[in-house]
Amino acid sequence: MTDPTSPLSPTAAQDEYAMRLALDQALNARLVGEVPVGAVITHMVDGVPQVLATGYNRPITTNDPTAHAEVVALRHAADLLGNYRLPGCTLYVTLEPCAMCAMALMHARFARVVFAAPDPKTGAAGSVVDLFAEPRLNHHTHVEGGLLADAAGSLLRDFFAERRAALRAEREAAADAARLPVPEVIESHFGPMD
Ligand SMILES: [Zn+2]
Repeated sequence: MTDPTSPLSPTAAQDEYAMRLALDQALNARLVGEVPVGAVITHMVDGVPQVLATGYNRPITTNDPTAHAEVVALRHAADLLGNYRLPGCTLYVTLEPCAMCAMALMHARFARVVFAAPDPKTGAAGSVVDLFAEPRLNHHTHVEGGLLADAAGSLLRDFFAERRAALRAEREAAADAARLPVPEVIESHFGPMD
């Protein structure tokens, strides 16, 4: 009989494969203009890790400040298993979890969390705080960082560089527009104003 909570751990190659899937999820976030972070949840079935759920960062598109990749994925996984706890599962995420996600993962009793790039601004797995190592919190979630960190980090750096360039172009276009004789332009393009 299949035991979805088998304690057998994935191999390094299986970890890398799952993180590559998480990177694909991060690309989905970028496609909709969200900060590119992706997550994948696996569990062991007959000694082989199987993908249970995926998620990508989408707080802006869903008007939901909690819609980080980890939370999106863990809601799908919990729904699928019909269980508010996910013991024996591994979550792969392309960016170090924040405090909200770290606690959500601990509440869900994840066996293991693997992240790619560190987050020096809000990382709660060692960068700003390490909630996973806090002995006063009752949990058993093992955390590892750095897997495919370069790929995940450059995805984020490229995203923010593109966003800065777009903002700069927007500001320059606005400055150019401010120098134009606006009423005439509006009339010639759209007809007389009311
Ligand atoms: Zn988070």
